[in-house]
Amino acid sequence: MELGIALLITASLAIFVMTPLLSRSTEAVPVDVTMAAHLKRRRLVVYENLQDLEFEYKAGKIATEDYESLRTNYRAEAAGLMAASMEAESVDAADALIEREIAARRAERKAKPQDDYTCAKCGFENPLPVKFCGECGAPLSPARKKN
Ligand SMILES: [Zn+2]
Repeated sequence: MELGIALLITASLAIFVMTPLLSRSTEAVPVDVTMAAHLKRRRLVVYENLQDLEFEYKAGKIATEDYESLRTNYRAEAAGLMAASMEAESVDAADALIEREIAARRAERKAKPQDDYTCAKCGFENPLPVKFCGECGAPLSPARKKN
């Protein structure tokens, strides 16, 4: 009986611990988006702690030595979080830039006539700018090239 209860508790604890880990791995993108927000929130908490520390020091509740070491720690933590935030934001910005580039290239491709390198002899649509048809070897007319 006791063993059964112990096993039940162990199993429910395992589920409790594993669930957030599993759900996190399945939705990678939303977590990445909230990462910057999460870092910012943590940074704001550190700033608040710094303010509280300042206040308590001025009220004479904290020794100068403790105050200074705590302040140094908080500042280092804030600086680390700031760097992490900037990194997360630059990753987001780089992703957005790549997406814009891809969208621009796609639009360009769509707007561009696709028959630039279509062979007049066999009708093969050569995917690259070439001088000779990749299918039959016939020279492609340079007059059809886009300037
Ligand atoms: Zn051809």
